[in-house]
Amino acid sequence: MEDDELHFMQDMLAGTELLMCSACGEETLHAHEEVLDVSPVATELKMQCTCCQTTRTWTDWTPPHQRIQLN
Ligand SMILES: [Zn+2]
Repeated sequence: MEDDELHFMQDMLAGTELLMCSACGEETLHAHEEVLDVSPVATELKMQCTCCQTTRTWTDWTPPHQRIQLN
């Protein structure tokens, strides 16, 4: 479990996430491209597939205090 968490943290630091890509038809590495919206409970991001460059939106439910804070 701790290894999974560590891996997740490393992914976040690298700015990439493993997400389902509708164009590739499988889970591929997506790079953070743009922050679309930040709410108190989640962050909405524009993600780009590193395989085919297709972009999609993705909601990150990580508590915002670990990420961007709006004051
Ligand atoms: Zn793709």
